[in-house]
Amino acid sequence: MSAQLHQAARLLSAYGLDKVQPSDIKIHLIEASPSLLPGLPERLSRATLNQLTGLGIEVLLGERVVEVTAAGMRTHAGQFIPAALKVWAAGVKAPDFLKTIEGLETNRFNQIVVRQTLQTTVDNDIYAIGDCAACPWPERNSTVPPRAQSAHQMASRVFKNIRRRLEAKPQLDYRYRDYGSLVSLGKYSTIGNLMGNLLGTVMIEGLIARLVYLSLYKMHQLAIFGPVRVGLLTLSGFFRRRLQPKIKLH
Ligand SMILES: Cc1cc2nc3c(=O)[nH]c(=O)nc-3n(C[C@H](O)[C@H](O)[C@H](O)COP(=O)(O)OP(=O)(O)OC[C@H]3O[C@@H](n4cnc5c(N)ncnc54)[C@H](O)[C@@H]3O)c2cc1C
Repeated sequence: MSAQLHQAARLLSAYGLDKVQPSDIKIHLIEASPSLLPGLPERLSRATLNQLTGLGIEVLLGERVVEVTAAGMRTHAGQFIPAALKVWAAGVKAPDFLKTIEGLETNRFNQIVVRQTLQTTVDNDIYAIGDCAACPWPERNSTVPPRAQSAHQMASRVFKNIRRRLEAKPQLDYRYRDYGSLVSLGKYSTIGNLMGNLLGTVMIEGLIARLVYLSLYKMHQLAIFGPVRVGLLTLSGFFRRRLQPKIKLH
């Protein structure tokens, strides 16, 4: 988002807002943990930090926001950052009603605590998957991150487990497999890592990362729409990009 805001600030002058110079807009990114993108590998986090600081974005790490006023934000260390526009993006939390679901164990993010089989800790007949589930990730001594790839993997496992339960067979454990992550920094860059059995972990950046990002998006579209509609979508996207404005102002 910081990279996109930076990009938007540069596009504003193209819309006649020439009194606003990019240098007039200062972007601060305030992060409570000691590194950016704390859920991702450290190399990815460092590369993203370098890109953002290279764009002139002020990144404050280990700073927790304790107060937001009309004039700006105050951090726990007492620093006050004046800001006309504030964007709050402080993480994923499941909806409050999950906390009050009768009899199920939940954690502080309101996620339903499940065992390795994806069955809830309290009731074998209730499964929870995806963002709303807190499933152990023993290799990291943590819980499986709320990501699209984990939700997809859990869906496949729960399908098998429900079938096995109906056939009175033992339940299978779910093990999270991280296939890697990609971070898009607007038009400036894409940074990521790919994890495979043969190659191990590979860091990718720039054009290659961008191409992997775009091909992944196309693969998702193919899974949902099929090849004909994806062909048409790609063609219409090609023309739309030439006609639509570079920035959405609403
Ligand atoms: C802006 C954004 C960017 C993201 N980018 C990435 C990314 O790049 N890579 C990645 O791996 N993950 C990404 N994620 C996370 C990813 O989208 C989620 O981890 C994934 O969608 C979780 O799948 P899910 O099926 O558990 O939940 P969802 O996809 O959230 O599906 C839950 C569905 O339940 C519906 N619902 C909620 N309450 C009720 C109710 N009471 N009754 C009926 N229906 C209900 C909701 O409307 C929703 O459709 C991103 C998330 C966000 C918000």
